[in-house]
Amino acid sequence: MPSIRPGPEREPDAVPPLPRREAPDGLWDRYGRRATDMRLSLTDRCSLRCTYCMPAKGLEWMAKQAVMTAEEIIRTVRLGVRELGIRELRLTGGEPLVRADLFDVISGIRANHPHLPIAMTTNGVGLQTRAAPLKAAGLTRINISLDSLHEETFKRLTRRPFLTQVLAGVDAARDAGLGPVKLNAVLMRGINDAEAPELLRWSLQQGHELRFIEQMPLDADHGWSRWDMITAAEIRELLSTEYVLTTDPGHRDGAPAERFQVRRRDSSRGGITGPALGTVGIIASVTEPFCGDCRRTRITADGKIMSCLFSRQEIDFVSLMRQGATDRELAERWQDAMWAKPRAHGMDHTGLGTEDFVQPDRSMSAIGG
Ligand code: SAM
Ligand code: SF4
Repeated sequence: MPSIRPGPEREPDAVPPLPRREAPDGLWDRYGRRATDMRLSLTDRCSLRCTYCMPAKGLEWMAKQAVMTAEEIIRTVRLGVRELGIRELRLTGGEPLVRADLFDVISGIRANHPHLPIAMTTNGVGLQTRAAPLKAAGLTRINISLDSLHEETFKRLTRRPFLTQVLAGVDAARDAGLGPVKLNAVLMRGINDAEAPELLRWSLQQGHELRFIEQMPLDADHGWSRWDMITAAEIRELLSTEYVLTTDPGHRDGAPAERFQVRRRDSSRGGITGPALGTVGIIASVTEPFCGDCRRTRITADGKIMSCLFSRQEIDFVSLMRQGATDRELAERWQDAMWAKPRAHGMDHTGLGTEDFVQPDRSMSAIGG
């Protein structure tokens, strides 16, 4: 049975200490956190069918007219940055590369915000030919999901035979100047967990930064099990067969990944190792949650605000925009939505049961990971 680090005792949800209207400008919540990092989903569609995310048959896609247009997205970002203190943007999905007007979206945002960091999370399918134009359009950084370096395992996880394409996309991203490229890997028990040291070895050799993400209960098939997921503690153990990890001295600064410096384990010298080879990140959303430090606000592809990835409350934003709302009215709706952000996602309190945790209605690809 995987070891789970106990989380803090649950505190009752406190009554808001002050009404939202008295809070300072920006996207504050009742617990004193301010969202400055915006995750914006561009589509719910995707070119892969990862087992921990989508069903084999895909999902019922959002109607085309429900999805935010490039103009609506550009206005939303402008509002977030100019009125509400957003400092970082990540484009995600579904798969952002399947969106036909992706370059218009990025260049439109960049035209308004010359210094805003714009990152994108992608599965890398089709990236080989698009990496350089994405950089030219104004993209700053990229995360590419890569769960295996072996075609058969990749296919088992993603249900598609596209590993070669994805690897070409990773190279193209580095060559286009979108580096240091970050790679995201989800480990699944008995499928790719044994590959963890190999994934790290390869990433270090290539100069990419690998981040392992604990599998979260956000799959459309509802197949997640607390007892079956590979925990952060297990990931560290898997890596320890080849590497010694030491906490990176750099400040975490609200980032979801805990970063470690990586040194090769040298058993002939009693485990003493040479210089750091690079870093690895572990995102332990389930077993070592970082809700207290969360700075994220999310908007789904159909224009709903979600204050948390695990929230079951969605606040309609784009309909208000389509009804002709002013920037001030839109900003207030966004602030109200964030004010109601839950203190924590509810999976962490005892480290045992998940009785009070209810999986959100939408799965990862439909919310935007
Ligand atoms: N399609 C793009 C991709 O795969 O990179 C962007 C969207 S995807 C939802 C964003 C990230 O979420 C990916 O790195 C993916 O591995 C991760 N992800 C998806 N479902 C997950 C789950 N149930 N638990 C943890 N991570 C998940
Ligand atoms: Fe698609 Fe990304 Fe979900 Fe995989 S994780 S099915 S690539 S949205």
